Amino acid sequence: MEKLYKPKNSIYSLIQLISLTLVLSTPQSSEIISRFQHYLQINTAQPNPDYTSATNFILSQSKALNLESQTIEFVKGKPVILLKWIGKYPKLPSILLNSHTDVVPVEQHKWTHPPFNAHIDEVGHIYARGSQDMKCVGLQYLEAIRALKDRGFEPVRTVYVSFVPDEEIGGHDGAEKFAQSEVFEKMNVGIVLDEGLASPNENYRVFYGERCPWWLVIKASGAPGHGAKLFDNSAMENLLKSIESVRRFRASQFDLVKAGLKAEGEVVSVNMVFLKAGTPSPTGFVMNLQPSEAEAGFDIRVPPTADPESLEKRIAEEWAPSSRNMTFQLGQFKQKGSVHDKSEKPALTAADMSNPWWVLLEEAVKKANRKLDKPEVFPASTDARYFRERGLPAIGFSPMANTPVLLHDHNEFLNKAEYLKGVEIYESIIKDYASYIEKPSGDASKEEL
Ligand SMILES: [Zn+2]
Repeated sequence: MEKLYKPKNSIYSLIQLISLTLVLSTPQSSEIISRFQHYLQINTAQPNPDYTSATNFILSQSKALNLESQTIEFVKGKPVILLKWIGKYPKLPSILLNSHTDVVPVEQHKWTHPPFNAHIDEVGHIYARGSQDMKCVGLQYLEAIRALKDRGFEPVRTVYVSFVPDEEIGGHDGAEKFAQSEVFEKMNVGIVLDEGLASPNENYRVFYGERCPWWLVIKASGAPGHGAKLFDNSAMENLLKSIESVRRFRASQFDLVKAGLKAEGEVVSVNMVFLKAGTPSPTGFVMNLQPSEAEAGFDIRVPPTADPESLEKRIAEEWAPSSRNMTFQLGQFKQKGSVHDKSEKPALTAADMSNPWWVLLEEAVKKANRKLDKPEVFPASTDARYFRERGLPAIGFSPMANTPVLLHDHNEFLNKAEYLKGVEIYESIIKDYASYIEKPSGDASKEEL
């Protein structure tokens, strides 16, 4: 992933700094920043996230904003917080703004500033775990609602804001259960916004789908034998043939990315994550014995546009063929998500004129004087997949431009100015989304109202 922070030209930086100083000097913006710091200071790192403090904080914000709120525990101790800003036409499909409350663990000693202090340095970088992934987004939604309310804006559609637990450990007790719940059904959601990634250039990145994880374990068996003997079909030899085949496939996919023909999210990635073989001895491994079993594990990421059946065929015929005494595990005890939604279509959100929510998003960002980059497939997983699986449009978007991608990294930070700009961006988006009424094209749309 991109880790380089390209310096901007100095005139641009100067203009940005001046406008930044003007924005930052208002008492209002310092309150916005201190609320963000407060949220960042709550340690919600896995595996022991402090959900109680996070919930209390969000509920206090909700109260100040006069939003309806409910806390739902699909699993005890793992709260989903759901806030509601009711629209004038509550029967219209609603808007859901989703974010997760947990963050990944830290290696404290590798941070320049303590990861839960939310320290702001002299250029305005706010250092904290979660500053990019994704406490920024959760609070930006609320700040945007605050600003819209202050201006007397009234939504036509109902706006929901959800704060879900456990995204960083798969989201099974959070967004997955939420998306399958009766509560969710009743919300009549029309569009979901969820997380994206920072962008090192001045445009925002935006995601319309994501790759799906398949965790594969292949196992070879064969007759054991003396370490000095050459014979066919040993477990090691059979496994090595498979590894060679996987490696060739991996290189063919990676070559497409290197040649610029495909983006990272558009190819199947395969990475070997473990190798398990050998007969242990007190000093390491027995050296004069060829073992009867050998195993390897792979993290595979499948884009929604790939053909899952042909990949499974490849696994069964080339990577773990029974003719070579091989077996494999995929999706039994291991993860194997679906690249399709419930109607068997690739789980992709249309990122073109056919999707009014896409058009509105692009326009709203433009109105706030920023631009979106070409839409991408998210290279890893987010909670958005649970909503897309239901067949709902979901867009991954975290408004962080001019920012190196530091999620899950040491010294994760977000600049104050980018954070405040993001609030403005969401104001523009929420305003347009919540005001959107389909153009009457027949009786159906009248009925909808
Ligand atoms: Zn995240």
